[in-house]
Amino acid sequence: MFNRFKEKLSGFKEALSSKLQEKAAQKESQAELEAQNAEAQAMPAPGEISKNQDIPDKESSSNQLTRAEVQAASNRSDASNSSSNSISSNNFAKPKPKNRFSILDKAKSLVFEQEIIIDEKDLTDPLWALEMALLESDVALPVAEQIVSSVKSELVGHRKKIGVDTGQLAEDALRSALVKMLSANRLDFDEYIKTKEKPVKILFVGVNGTGKTTSIAKVARYLMDQGYSVVLAAGDTFRAGAIEQLEVHGERLGLKVIKHKTGGDPAAVIFDSVEYARAHNKDVVLADTAGRLHTNINLMDQMRKIVRVTKPDLLIFVDEAIAGNDAVERARLFNESVPIGGSILTKTDADAKGGSAISIAYITGKPVLFLGVGQNYPDLVKFEPQWLVDRLLGEAEA
Ligand code: GDP
Repeated sequence: MFNRFKEKLSGFKEALSSKLQEKAAQKESQAELEAQNAEAQAMPAPGEISKNQDIPDKESSSNQLTRAEVQAASNRSDASNSSSNSISSNNFAKPKPKNRFSILDKAKSLVFEQEIIIDEKDLTDPLWALEMALLESDVALPVAEQIVSSVKSELVGHRKKIGVDTGQLAEDALRSALVKMLSANRLDFDEYIKTKEKPVKILFVGVNGTGKTTSIAKVARYLMDQGYSVVLAAGDTFRAGAIEQLEVHGERLGLKVIKHKTGGDPAAVIFDSVEYARAHNKDVVLADTAGRLHTNINLMDQMRKIVRVTKPDLLIFVDEAIAGNDAVERARLFNESVPIGGSILTKTDADAKGGSAISIAYITGKPVLFLGVGQNYPDLVKFEPQWLVDRLLGEAEA
């Protein structure tokens, strides 16, 4: 699931990492230079050393060691690496390499602990890599732009400890941008069904072959598991096969399927189903419709008529995640023709890119309600942004 998406994102992580490494290296060499300068300033000038050494002051002259003694003591001190000896403190000859390194090491370790502040310039290349990765993963352009801008505002001004993993930083920023985007326009389907006057009329629309009929059966099973009674309406009167297919699901699930003859009026089938549900105290009517070709204006007109006559409570657009940008484009066109309330994205289990799952809610302005994750009835996941993002970023398996 979403393997290509994960692969593509590595470019963004690498670009951010190399940019910040470059910045950290600059800071490190600057700190090293500063440490060297500070050390040079702290050292006595050569003139002062010989003056102090050669002209002992009168008060201490009685305790003064001979030059040979100083040298010998100094050598001993160097050998034993002692710094507590008062004689070694008189060893002014040269700065000791050990001290010098320890100051530099300390400077470096302080830099490692230090922070760099990420600015817009650092992000130009990484964000370009991110946008490319999103577009190549079939994320629609306006959606990719929105994500990039959100990641940018998350990262600009961010203080990053030099020693802290950049990959994690990149992932956190992207995670937060994706969760924010996917959390817009939420609709709690369970709460909706619970509070809506019964029977709740739900119409499923979308092109043929995307998994519409299977999704109707999955949603029926999902509702039955919560104790609701369900009726199925064979509103796709266009194809005999579609009616039979719904009947097979009805049989398997033990549900009543209301059907008319092939070529009949879909609005009449749905109307009858609602009447049946009312008469038998059923909670929900799930109605199939023909796989309207969204480019066919006559069929779209007919869809509008069905909606006008049957007045569904909720219209669910169904498409397959693997169709990528095509699915997003179809969603946009359906949404312009009929009042979609939400979407179901099927075949997410077979989707390597993830683009449509990210884009569809943003493009339609309507929530994704469920994801299809397999061919069996329980393979329906109630849409949760966190669930999807965990899988997109590879922290959880399907
Ligand atoms: P319809 O023509 O839109 O009603 O499509 P169907 O419901 O007949 O589904 C078409 C094919 O997609 C069938 O083989 C389904 O088993 C399969 N399918 C539906 N949903 C999923 C899903 O979430 N995952 C996978 N892997 N296959 C699915």
